[in-house]
Amino acid sequence: MKALVYNKNSESKIELCERELPQILDPKDAIVEVTLSSICTSDLHIINGQVPRANNNIILGHEFVGKVIETGADVKNLKIGDRVSANCETFCGNCYFCKRGYINNCENGGWELGCRIDGCQAEYIRVPYADMGLTKIPDNVTDKNALFVGDILSSGYFGAEMCEIKQGDTIAVIGSGPVGMCSMICARLMGAEKIIAIDVNENRLNIAKQQNLADFYLNPNNSDIETEVKKLTHNRGADGVIEAAGCSPHGATYSQQPQSQQQQGTFELAWKIARPNAIVGIVAMYEENQILPLPQMYGKNLTFKTGGVDAIHCKKLLQLISEGKINTDFIVTQTYPLKDILDAYSYFKNNKDTCLKIAITK
Ligand SMILES: [Zn+2]
Ligand SMILES: [Zn+2]
Repeated sequence: MKALVYNKNSESKIELCERELPQILDPKDAIVEVTLSSICTSDLHIINGQVPRANNNIILGHEFVGKVIETGADVKNLKIGDRVSANCETFCGNCYFCKRGYINNCENGGWELGCRIDGCQAEYIRVPYADMGLTKIPDNVTDKNALFVGDILSSGYFGAEMCEIKQGDTIAVIGSGPVGMCSMICARLMGAEKIIAIDVNENRLNIAKQQNLADFYLNPNNSDIETEVKKLTHNRGADGVIEAAGCSPHGATYSQQPQSQQQQGTFELAWKIARPNAIVGIVAMYEENQILPLPQMYGKNLTFKTGGVDAIHCKKLLQLISEGKINTDFIVTQTYPLKDILDAYSYFKNNKDTCLKIAITK
């Protein structure tokens, strides 16, 4: 089968190869025919050498939907032919952390697919703990509707959930990329009355605006965000802040396109625009350490929550999609067949203005 393989010793770091079909290795495994997958920024992090736990020579990719074609003897909830959406995390469902819903820290899993073991940018994939990691897709939900359920939509939900949103809250979302947009969608569902979208990329703010994801759209290149947020919140600050950008001071920008002007990092911005006693939920992945200036924030009584997504709501998210309450189709801005995935990677890397996510078809 065709597969996109990470080869850290090659110049391009990725190669389109012929690989053996995956086999069941454990009774809890399933083999899935991949019908639609995506390229994630985390794949670029692996290629750039920023994920030390990534194994060389694995097939990349962890966000996909497909059709079950084989199940191991201990798989109880799936049968051949089921259309399924995959969780980006592999989790056993049985360990200390899984039992508490903290599946990102599963003692027997974590981010495995497309990192430690073969991922989904291929024709077929082996999924361990298939009963846990695969969720059946309702009939009225298309593959495209379901593509982001197990990764970016779950991450957006996680960000909104961290903020413990109450009816009527004002929520600021830093970063209007795919995860930030999913956070806006979920914050609205959880009762946020005013959503403030913040990004330095005007195109991404415009897409959010076209989709009516927020109520205010602020660009730090055009205005002072702290002042603007205060104006919108009776001088208090946001009730909750979701940090989905992860940009260091002077470093890369919110949506990772070159931008020389940016001074303030998004972590600093996040706690500054939060009102006293707010929750700052951090879903972003930083490439550098961030500074927590405790003397400056003394008395603000903030709560910070950080983390990699505990993607435990896939079934609920699919239900919300089925009921028409969530639609993430607009996030797919380009589609490439698997045979042209190298072109897709190059487009994804170089066109942050026009590209949110690329869907890879068979
Ligand atoms: Zn991802
Ligand atoms: Zn576990």
